[in-house]
This record gives sequence, C-alpha cells and structure tokens, in this order.
Amino acid sequence: MDLFEYQARDLFEAYGVPVLAGRIADTPEEAEQAAKEIGGTVVIKAQVKTGGRGKAGGVKLAHNPQEARERAEEILGLDIKGHVVKRVMIAQGAQIDKEFYFSVLLDRSNRTFLSLCSVEGGVEIEQLAVERPDALAKVPISAVSGIDKAKALEIAKQAGFPAELQDKVSDVFVKLYEVFTKEDATLVEVNPLVLTADSDIIALDGKVSLDDNAEFRHEREEMERDQLDPLEAKAQALDLNYVKLDGEVGIIGNGAGLVMSTLDVVAYAGERHGSVKPANFLDIGGGASAEVMAAGLDVILNDPQVKSVFVNVFGGITACDAVANGIVGALNTLGDKASKPLVVRLDGNNVDQGRAILADYAHPLVTLAETMDGGADEAAKLANR
Ligand code: GDP
Ligand code: MN
Repeated sequence: MDLFEYQARDLFEAYGVPVLAGRIADTPEEAEQAAKEIGGTVVIKAQVKTGGRGKAGGVKLAHNPQEARERAEEILGLDIKGHVVKRVMIAQGAQIDKEFYFSVLLDRSNRTFLSLCSVEGGVEIEQLAVERPDALAKVPISAVSGIDKAKALEIAKQAGFPAELQDKVSDVFVKLYEVFTKEDATLVEVNPLVLTADSDIIALDGKVSLDDNAEFRHEREEMERDQLDPLEAKAQALDLNYVKLDGEVGIIGNGAGLVMSTLDVVAYAGERHGSVKPANFLDIGGGASAEVMAAGLDVILNDPQVKSVFVNVFGGITACDAVANGIVGALNTLGDKASKPLVVRLDGNNVDQGRAILADYAHPLVTLAETMDGGADEAAKLANR
C-alpha cells in the first residue's frame, strides 16, 4: 500500500520525525478553515500518488485563509499525470534555506536494505541519479543492525553534509529508519528534507510504501479505507475483485482472463459508439452464485458513470443455468435498483437451459447476446444513447 503524503506526515509525526503542521481538506471551504487554524503562510498540496506535483501546479503558497481557499479551488479537480486531485493538504509554510534528499528502501536485487541520500534534494531523484550519480550516496543497510546513530552519521558524511549539520540530520535518519522497520515499509522517502532559515531540519514531503504481507501485524483499517474509492471500498467489503475504471460500460465476468479480454472487446466496440469505455474490472470467480452476482451488480449500478452493463459469463463448473438463476435472483433482490440496461452473454456448459431461463424471465432491461463481440457492441451502443 502506497500512502498519501498526509498519511506519511502523520506517521512521521508519531515517530518524532520533525514535520510541520498539516491538515487535509476536500473542499475550498475546508481549506480556508484549515489555513485559519494553522495560521500564517501555508502551502496547499495536491494529495495524489505521483511525484512532480510542484511542477504540475499541485503545490501552491497561500498567505492568508482567503488565498488558501482560492488556491485549493485551483488544485482540487486538477489532473496530475492521470490522477485527479480530490483532497489537498494544508501545510504550515516553511522558509527553506536548503533542500536535501533521504530514503531507505528494500533493495530486492541485492537482498538488502539501502539508503540513498543527497545534499541536492528537491529535484526528482531519478534525474539526479542519471545526471550526477556522484551526488547521490548509496549506503547498504543491514537488516540486523539497521540505521543506528553511527550508520546515520556515515550516511550524512557520504552524502556530503557539512560537519555542523551531520549530528542534526543523522538524528532524523535514525527516526526515519524506525518508521521504516516498525511499520514494515518497503520505502520511506523524504524529498525534500529541508534546512529552514531557523536552522531546523524538517521532512517537508514524504512518500511511504507499506508491505501488504505484514498487514496482519498492524491496525490499518482506517488508512486502507482512505486509500480507496468509495465503490472499491464497497466491493472490498463484499470480497469482490473489483477495480474502478473511467468508462461507461459496467463489466461482470467470471475468471480474470475472460474479464480482461472483455475489457478489450468493449474498448474496441466503444470506438464505434462515441468512444465509450469499460467502467470497471469485476471478476465474480468460478462460483457466480446469485448472491455474488447481486453484490457485483449492486456495486456497478451504483457507479454514476455507468450507462449499461455487460455480463459475460462462461459456464464451466458452475453451469449456465445456475448463472442465469443467479442473474434472475440478483435482479429480484435489486428490484428498482436495477435501473440500467443489461446485456448478457452466456456460453459453455448448459447454455441452452441458461438462455431459456433468461428468455422466460423477460426482464425489460435485459438483452441476450449470442456472442462476446455482439454483446460488447450492444452494451457499447446502449451506453452511448
Ligand atoms: P513534489 O513536487 O510532488 O515532490 O512535492 P513537494 O512536496 O516535494 O514540493 C515541491 C517543492 O515545493 C519543494 O521542493 C519545495 O521547493 C516547495 N515547497 C514545498 N513546501 C514548501 C513550503 O512550505 N515553503 C516553500 N517556500 N516551498 C515549499
Ligand atoms: Mn517531493
């Protein structure tokens, strides 16, 4: 799980890493209020999981609450490298004297942890690594001894910190390593780590990736909920393999391979019908019972972007008649909530019985398709109406 900057900031704070005050806001009004509470100059920062927000216009200074509101209005809704900004962080402003870089990460290829550090921070580190590799210290970290004070001083020296700063920054490195190991992270990155005009060292931007395999050791329900789109959260609660996409045609299929190819076929069909696209990935698995079908339809029909749904099921162990009964059961359960046209393509085991069940049911919103291509075309056409 990759954390948002504000979540990384909160973690840092809990471990005593020096950070500045920060609050989140989902609306310009909340941003104004947060700026009032923090006081003074603040920075409005887009909360999206991609770097280079600064360059993309996602990090802006505001000198008073009114300005904070205006800047938040500009940043909320902004598309940064395909990530739409839904939340901003209002951070206390800093007088920056110098910007540094520090990270500790799992170096899989060398089977060790690795710390990267540079006194030339702020810029994208990939760029620095290519253009000026000498400016980037790379220090392997033993998983047994970790980053103690002595190791931290070694990192600071190798990175070229001046003597008078080494003690101060190394204390911060020790704390950041504590975050890394106690939280079971695979990456803790601070860029920039800054020296302020008041000679304080502060972590101004944080990126943290947590190891999902260690989830059982932590209480992360709230953090996880905050990661997810509301529809994805609902799907997760129902144990569905669902990924929200950006189109108009809802997709339900059984088996990841079939669903993947359904996405392709619908995307191609969409090119003939006003460029409509698949709205989601949803694999209901081999069972395809009425309950799972109802849960899946419920999630998809709650997506306001969805205009039509394509159910593409291949009957195997669970035969088509059972799937058809599942669809009928789901539509009965949903009642009026089933409000968008459904194109159903069934094939495989007991296909004739399955189609007969749906034909007899004669639901006004359900169309039967003979083939996958035909079904995709019909669903795309319905979505484009
Ligand atoms: P990124 O572009 O996504 O990495 O976002 P950052 O949080 O690293 O911010 C980008 C740049 O904005 C930093 O390198 C700083 O130069 C600047 N910045 C961020 N916060 C402050 C602040 O409080 N005061 C000032 N003056 N500049 C800031
Ligand atoms: Mn940064």
